[in-house]
Amino acid sequence: NSRVVRGDQMTAVKHMKWWGWGDEGVSFEYRNKPEFAPFVQKAVGLDVTTPPVPPLSFDELEVPAPRIGEQLQEQLTDILGAEHVHTDKMSRVVHTLGKGIRDLLRIRSSDLNRCPDVVVYPADEEQVRLVVEAAVEADAVVIPFGGGSNISGSLEPPPEEQRVVISLDLGRMNQVLEIDENSGLARIQAGAQGPDLERALAARGWTIGHFPDSFAHSTLGGWIATRSSGMQSDKYGDIADIVRGLRLVRSGGTVALRPLPSTSTGPSIREMILGSEGRLGVITEATVNVHRIPPVRKVLAYLFPSWDAGLAAMREISESDASPSVTRVSDAPETAFSFATRTASKGLKSASTKALTKVLTMRGWDLDQLCLSFIGYEGSESHVKYEKKLVKRIVSKHGGMYIGEGPGALYDQKKFDTPYIRDFLLDRGAAADVSETAAPWSKLRHLYDTTMAAAHSAYDDLGVRGWIMCHLSHSYHSGACLYFTFAFVHGDEPLKQYDHVKSAIQQAFIDAGGTLSHHHAVGVEHAPWLTDDISEEGVSLMRGLFESADPRRNFNPDKII
Ligand code: FAD
Repeated sequence: NSRVVRGDQMTAVKHMKWWGWGDEGVSFEYRNKPEFAPFVQKAVGLDVTTPPVPPLSFDELEVPAPRIGEQLQEQLTDILGAEHVHTDKMSRVVHTLGKGIRDLLRIRSSDLNRCPDVVVYPADEEQVRLVVEAAVEADAVVIPFGGGSNISGSLEPPPEEQRVVISLDLGRMNQVLEIDENSGLARIQAGAQGPDLERALAARGWTIGHFPDSFAHSTLGGWIATRSSGMQSDKYGDIADIVRGLRLVRSGGTVALRPLPSTSTGPSIREMILGSEGRLGVITEATVNVHRIPPVRKVLAYLFPSWDAGLAAMREISESDASPSVTRVSDAPETAFSFATRTASKGLKSASTKALTKVLTMRGWDLDQLCLSFIGYEGSESHVKYEKKLVKRIVSKHGGMYIGEGPGALYDQKKFDTPYIRDFLLDRGAAADVSETAAPWSKLRHLYDTTMAAAHSAYDDLGVRGWIMCHLSHSYHSGACLYFTFAFVHGDEPLKQYDHVKSAIQQAFIDAGGTLSHHHAVGVEHAPWLTDDISEEGVSLMRGLFESADPRRNFNPDKII
């Protein structure tokens, strides 16, 4: 059992570090990556070898006192048992924020406005129902909590909230309840984190195929409530495609949507709950598409001579008969970053790198424009062989070349470690975060140029040397997701500087025909761009939904709208 017992009470639910990403004791290590320090020095002018300034100690963190009255606390205790009702400082802090750079900067400067007053851990849907009933009766606020990994400000109580705030952690509801092998459907409780549910499914030979980079620390309920997308979405779909049935506890009742392959029942209630960020109630379980674990699963690496060539190849692959699980290509800056995070290569490995460089130079490639691509294949041996052949032809047509299985395998292993770099940089005075969007194929290149220019102009305004890099991932029939990572050495007002860069990037998305987010949700972080994205009338419809579903604003108020 990977779960650990936290704090003074007996609720065995795993949480991330209160001050940063991931598991306690795990961090990013640069010393075994010889190119990393010079790369960062050149990119943002930061010397990563200078001693880090760690975050403040937990004792130094100032947390407002809990405001829960005796009566409600007793009621919650009666429903759940005292050991599953927590008001200690650590529990409240862990449940206040997500893991966006704003959250991390704020927690490091002890800037907490309003924490939940109490954290509760129901064991089943009936307990969720009783907690919701008691909360609404007392006019308290309920904020469902999955893994706390969101990066769009989807969890924090409104700073001015005067009512009692209950964080409802689904962590004890983490079971795969049932697999319908005939239909390829699994009923799973909403609090199951990625590893929990994949382990249980794998034991029976199944997979959900949903692997966001936050997989190790996010939950099924959180994925649904934020409209998440996983690395292999090209094959398995986004969570919006994967989820077929749902149960949602709201004030006065439970919405029960049976799992159906498709249905014609008016505007989709399922789609309303997807992305609802806790505003419509608490998702207690979902029935999701699952697939037999394929005999072959591999990620192969390719190089392209330019970003344009890489984008064109991804588009052509998406409309070809090949249907890979992953189509991903990095621009030249991200490719340089990937190479800079390689561990020291010895013997054969470094010899093959030299040989590759020689081949590329002989072909006349500009090594500064290289674009690294990963294509994932899953299925039977013969299916994968067929797809690889089709992809190879398309890659060659666009001047690219196959460089082997090694980098792909390494990428697959390392992808869940990358998030730890953000805390490493923060310890050294640099802020890094991501913004992602989706747009039609015809607009992607323009969107990319507009966004890069907007970010660099924002850096110029601030007088900082900033970095921005991008990759294409998640291809669809009509377009794809572009995912940007940006970083800069911050000054005394990091949040102001971040806001300036982040706003420039988000506005560029909208101006160039992209959406405010492909898979990170709205929260409060992206809310300023919602009207631009879905129109005033769209916002008005959505407001109507929230107001009628939750007239007293008891469920995660102020998110999305
Ligand atoms: P939380 O952060 O706990 O909650 C998010 C929102 O969902 C909140 O509004 C909460 O109230 C609501 N919610 C949670 N559970 C329920 C429930 N049971 N019922 C109702 N509402 C609920 N996202 C991707 O899609 N793909 C990625 O590859 C990806 N990579 C990431 C990498 C990093 C390093 C980080 C920090 C984030 C990444 N994310 C990614 C974003 C984040 O992991 C997703 O938004 C994820 O879906 C959030 O799930 P969670 O369980 O952590 O939810």
